Amino acid sequence: MRDITAPLLDWYDVHAREMPWRVMPDDRKAGVMPNPYAVWLSEVMLQQTTVAAVRQYHQKFTRIWPTVAELAAAEDADVMAAWAGLGYYARARNLLKCARAVVADHGGAFPQTYDDLITLPGIGPYTAAAISAIAFDEVSTVLDGNVERVMARLYDDHTPLPAAKPVLMDYAQRHTSNERPGDYAQAVMDLGATICTPKSPACGICPIMVECAARAAGSQTELPKKTPKKPKPTRHGIAYIARRADGAWLLETRPDKGLLGGMLGWPTTEWGDAPDEYEPISADWIESDTEARHTFTHFNLVLRVQTAWLPQDASPNRGQFMPEDTFSPSALPTVMQKAYTLAAATLRPV
Ligand code: SF4
Repeated sequence: MRDITAPLLDWYDVHAREMPWRVMPDDRKAGVMPNPYAVWLSEVMLQQTTVAAVRQYHQKFTRIWPTVAELAAAEDADVMAAWAGLGYYARARNLLKCARAVVADHGGAFPQTYDDLITLPGIGPYTAAAISAIAFDEVSTVLDGNVERVMARLYDDHTPLPAAKPVLMDYAQRHTSNERPGDYAQAVMDLGATICTPKSPACGICPIMVECAARAAGSQTELPKKTPKKPKPTRHGIAYIARRADGAWLLETRPDKGLLGGMLGWPTTEWGDAPDEYEPISADWIESDTEARHTFTHFNLVLRVQTAWLPQDASPNRGQFMPEDTFSPSALPTVMQKAYTLAAATLRPV
């Protein structure tokens, strides 16, 4: 079998990236264990998001809620607002559910094994493996996009994703290390993120290049193969952005279920092919010249933006007014921030 454990761990000892939640290899060898709360938070945030984007959110969360018990006791709206901009908002709702389950069912201490971790809300196979390996040094196999790429190249396997997942998991399991399992898991992910990158892998400085079949075949940049995706459909909607005479903004908390569930946003129509107008109040709505465009996982959204000033005694049939001094656009999800940017000029107080 290709032996990659020793060269990868040697490379990691020198090149491990510093991250707020990571215990660096020298400290780990000296017996320092990572904080499971910090590791869990990082892994939930890193699902679908880059390390660079997660860093500041992780620091914000651990500053506001230093322990899982404090997070569990937080108001839902405060957590959703702190998460705004990070996307995939179901993760934030599951984050709270998980924190509350850790407190209610496990006395505030994260369970340590894959089998127990995977029973928690929002923790799937990858996250359970990552937390059990990184936080508790359990021998678990992590398989994220970075590891898939490294394994496909190491074995020069041309099976297209997603069908290739089981075989890539098989390769990854063969290499899962009994020696320093937590460091090994982070090493292989770091390798994929920094050396074995999608477009231009730095094979010349790769610690496992002598074992790599794709490098020998010259096929590394073609791998992993992917089944072509269908083009995303485009949906349309209208966002209604209104201010009352005293400057308060008309906002609406979206239903818990569905896209952007539980997040604060502007009242909108349904998002579809040609949605019907659905004004939250009768007013002189003015249409913006440009549209807010946003890409979700399964579709592109084109959001027309309409603005209006409302009288002080306005009584909308949806949403509630938020005073000017408590409103912060950064507490809105990104698509709502884009709509705000288009509306802000017309709704600036004169
Ligand atoms: S040799 Fe190149 S393709 Fe192979 S694992 Fe290293 S960086 Fe990736």
